[in-house]
Amino acid sequence: MNNDAGVAGDVGATRRAADGAIRAGDFIAAKIREDNATGLYRGRVQTRFPPEPNGYLHIGHAKAITADFGIAADFGGSCNLRLDDTNPDTEDVEYVESIIDDIAWLGYTPANVCYASDYFEALYEWAELLIRDAKAYVDDQDAETISAQRGGFGKPGVESPYRERDPEENLRLFRAMRDGEFADGARVLRAKIDMQSENMQLRDPVLYRIRRSHHHRTGDKWVIYPTYDWAHGQSDALEGVTHSMCTLEFEAHRPLYDWCLEQLPLPYEKPQQLEFARLELTHTVTSKRRLRKLVDDGTVTGWDDPRMPTLVGLRRRGYPAAAITAFCTHIGINKTNSRHAIEELEAFVRTELNRVSLRRMAVINPLRLVIDNWPQTEEGAPVVEWFTLGNNPENPDDGTRSVPFGGVLYIERDDFAEVPPPKFFRLSPGREVRLRGAYLVSATDVVKDEAGNIIEVHCTYDPATRGGDAPDGRKVKSTMHWVSAEHALDATVNLYERLFSTEVPGESTGEPLDDVNPDSCTTLNCKVEAALGDTAPGEVVQFERLGYFCKDGQTPMLFHRTVGLKDEWANIRKRSG
Ligand code: ATP
Ligand code: MG
Repeated sequence: MNNDAGVAGDVGATRRAADGAIRAGDFIAAKIREDNATGLYRGRVQTRFPPEPNGYLHIGHAKAITADFGIAADFGGSCNLRLDDTNPDTEDVEYVESIIDDIAWLGYTPANVCYASDYFEALYEWAELLIRDAKAYVDDQDAETISAQRGGFGKPGVESPYRERDPEENLRLFRAMRDGEFADGARVLRAKIDMQSENMQLRDPVLYRIRRSHHHRTGDKWVIYPTYDWAHGQSDALEGVTHSMCTLEFEAHRPLYDWCLEQLPLPYEKPQQLEFARLELTHTVTSKRRLRKLVDDGTVTGWDDPRMPTLVGLRRRGYPAAAITAFCTHIGINKTNSRHAIEELEAFVRTELNRVSLRRMAVINPLRLVIDNWPQTEEGAPVVEWFTLGNNPENPDDGTRSVPFGGVLYIERDDFAEVPPPKFFRLSPGREVRLRGAYLVSATDVVKDEAGNIIEVHCTYDPATRGGDAPDGRKVKSTMHWVSAEHALDATVNLYERLFSTEVPGESTGEPLDDVNPDSCTTLNCKVEAALGDTAPGEVVQFERLGYFCKDGQTPMLFHRTVGLKDEWANIRKRSG
């Protein structure tokens, strides 16, 4: 099927990337090669993937994972998974487990699974060190006051009245903060850097806040928690990370990342932060906060709803992990934020599924087709014939299966027209078509209900065309899929449209959730060939002529359409020259 050819060329290029040939051209690889040449890390390459366990991973995270794990592997280094669990209010072990699971599903194995909370004690000790060096102070002001004093671009910051507090007093107060002597929000620990800095991040950032909340790992042991800026670089340093990759919005944090590390006696060489562009896709939102809202509102059925861009959602929909990593490797790591067409990702999904998925016949909008001249057995029952059909033309090793054919079949309602419009070459009265792999049939008549709807089509078959070809060489313009009514199984199919109807959700209103497509799922009752009863939950098969469908992991005989057969990405590329 030529529309299955997809982006074979692109995938070839991606395979080459696995041995570094493509990725070697990106700026991060260039920096690592430079560091190896100067011996900055004595040849060591260590990265980490640092998600906050406050939601499920999404397609954007797949890019970061591919970068963090892929680059470490390219240079013979290692990559840790670090759960950045410093906000107990929003975090949960459910998310931790899903993150670990998703990374394994993508095919990566962390060298270590670490938690920022493993370092709470060490981070605390280092904070005391800063205080003793008069580089951090306890501020008694509330969050609003501190925030107002930060100033803005072109607006100088105002120094806190507590800024020059004596280190001994700061130390006493910080210990009292830790010991739970103050109310939540009553005090914070701030770095003492520069309230006039052009870089807002350096205007005495908060390092610790008081927060009585139960932590999923440390329980109620701590009532103070480090901020991202205090936890992140220091955790990198404690683990021995060399190259700490993050997305571009953290670029402005880099001077602070460096400042913190420069104050401390590090166990390894100082890590460096490198920023790359986020992955955004058309018709897609990759903010955990907004994805959570879709779940909480009931817009979707859960984090693993097949319309969600979460890895659990894409997986349930039938996206192969290999297609996701191939796509991420293909788009590469760069410094310019851009939005990729979702069709480009789908092209990778289609290419991979074309290679691996078995072909089956399913009729998603069934219409009965009765063959009036079909033979009967001596007992008066319709004869059943069995046809041998290939499981996957892309892979002969996938073998064949026997498919029953009888006097009553189901075909797609769309494949019949009582009065055919121009260029309609499928079945209509007097027209002969091929039933895939079986016989040529010609429609003769229709049966309608009282409302005038067609409920049954009658036809005759030509017994000389067994296998689908006429001995006299006459041609038909159309080949249609079918299932035997007597043998078909009932199934439910979910067809999905874009979850967001606009290419850039929220572009006009500022709120992406305003652009949720209210009709993103259509459920149909179908008739499918019996072999689909044996399809494993989670397996993706091609329904011939209809697309790729993934059997649900829980609900029996429910299939999610993963992606259609048409390569829309090829058309988009053609249009844009
Ligand atoms: P959110 O703001 O939606 O919670 P986040 O960026 O804070 O997302 P984290 O769990 O902190 O999510 O992210 C873990 C890692 O994944 C970070 O290094 C982050 O930069 C990276 N990441 C997150 N989203 C994307 C994306 N869309 N594209 C590429 N990398 C991403
Ligand atoms: Mg975050």
